[in-house]
Amino acid sequence: MSEHADLLVIGAGPGGYTAAFRAADLGRKVTLVDARPTLGGVCLNVGCIPSKALLHVAGLIGNAAEGASHGVSFSAPQIDIDAVRNWKEGVVGKLTGGLAGLAKRRKVTTIQGAARFTGQHQVEVATPDGPRRISFDQAIIAAGSSPVWLPFLPDDPRIFDSTGALELKTAPSRLLVLGGGVIGLEMAQVYHALGSRITIAERMGQLIPGADADIIKPLMNRLKARYEAIHLETSVTAVEPGEALTVSFEGPSGAWQGDFDAILVAVGRRPNGAALAAETAGVTVTGQGFIPVDAQMRTSQPHIFAIGDVVGQPMLAHKATHEAKVATEVACGHKAAFEPRCIPSVAYTDPEIAWTGLTETRAKAEGCKVKSATFPWAASGRALSMGRGEGLTKLVLDPDTGRILGAAIVGVNAGELIASACHAIEMGSDAADLALTIHPHPTLSETLGFAAEAFEGTLTDL
Ligand SMILES: Cc1cc2nc3c(=O)[nH]c(=O)nc-3n(C[C@H](O)[C@H](O)[C@H](O)COP(=O)(O)OP(=O)(O)OC[C@H]3O[C@@H](n4cnc5c(N)ncnc54)[C@H](O)[C@@H]3O)c2cc1C
Repeated sequence: MSEHADLLVIGAGPGGYTAAFRAADLGRKVTLVDARPTLGGVCLNVGCIPSKALLHVAGLIGNAAEGASHGVSFSAPQIDIDAVRNWKEGVVGKLTGGLAGLAKRRKVTTIQGAARFTGQHQVEVATPDGPRRISFDQAIIAAGSSPVWLPFLPDDPRIFDSTGALELKTAPSRLLVLGGGVIGLEMAQVYHALGSRITIAERMGQLIPGADADIIKPLMNRLKARYEAIHLETSVTAVEPGEALTVSFEGPSGAWQGDFDAILVAVGRRPNGAALAAETAGVTVTGQGFIPVDAQMRTSQPHIFAIGDVVGQPMLAHKATHEAKVATEVACGHKAAFEPRCIPSVAYTDPEIAWTGLTETRAKAEGCKVKSATFPWAASGRALSMGRGEGLTKLVLDPDTGRILGAAIVGVNAGELIASACHAIEMGSDAADLALTIHPHPTLSETLGFAAEAFEGTLTDL
């Protein structure tokens, strides 16, 4: 059976569904194909959303435990892991079901199956009912990414990636998290709240290596006090399965072994570009599996676009959705380009870490002259009234013009707070713009205004 799509979208994650819906809104006849039975891709099914639903539960447990230092004590929580899992699945179900409704309302044809290119204008989709051949005028590849697996790891159900961790089968007594990046740290926080003892092994010299060291420090201090061990500059070289999983480490102090009940592998993600046979359509795919695109999200074939994790870093849902809108609008003949001044990154840890635009570390590496201005939350009335004065708000500025080039925040709700810094950077704001903006008092948002005042020399709160 052969069918035709005016616009074919491969992958229904935040990139793919946004592209499909925007194209339908622009009057195109759209077919959206995804190998999963539900729409939403990694983000909704096994990524952003289930992890945040579980982190919310971890937050409740953590806040209750901290009540004692404010004079309110609760008894130890009764954790029903099945009910926690059901809560998470309920949140995911609401959102993926909502997407199915939005697709239907827009008359987007959805097909479940893995697509492979069979020609410049044709794919074959392996559906549960057999192969379907679909020809298309234009296509958007939004095939996303998958967790990286380490080849020396034995095949053992006690060793899992983020998708396995989100299944929340049990809370192991001793959990080793391999990788101190955002995903590993978020899942570590969930399992710690559920009662696991956590060890983290990170190959680099710092947790969340993309962010500046001063922003990571308060997180590191808090985690060190709660987790069993955090090993930096440390690699895992072997895992021996037995009654426990015996792990061999190599770090600055030499080699050693440790026993764990489970291992979460969170060492990064790789693009899915190699599995689509995109070269058959004339689309260039790199050796790593990325699909290179120009600012209009066109691949090496002008009628085929690519967006999201499959085109490059940072692998983040909000980057994918913005690229999706550009690709769709260009495909529909509009003038558009993906030229953001900054893309925020957030670790929903406790405290949260958020950064956007230029970091001090990158400025130094690239030889850019910058000045940073900080405001410590120890001087923020709102932070102290929450018992969370460990935070820090930092602006990275052009020393001559005062223009804001980057921002980074560590503290409660940093992920929400960073949005106004993104807006400032996109608008080309300088420190005076931010310092003269009246922020409500007492809020954490004030700390952005105070950091700008620190640069201006007008700060009176310190
Ligand atoms: C645990 C975890 C937590 C995360 N948390 C966050 C967060 O808080 N914020 C954030 O911004 N990002 C987060 N991310 C990253 C985010 O999920 C991704 O950046 C985002 O989902 C990428 O969107 P995408 O549209 O490019 O692809 P994906 O969401 O990866 O979707 C791609 C889809 O394409 C389908 N597909 C692939 N190949 C084919 C094929 N050949 N045929 C048909 N279908 C195919 C896949 O089945 C998949 O559903 C997280 C990721 C993980 C794993």
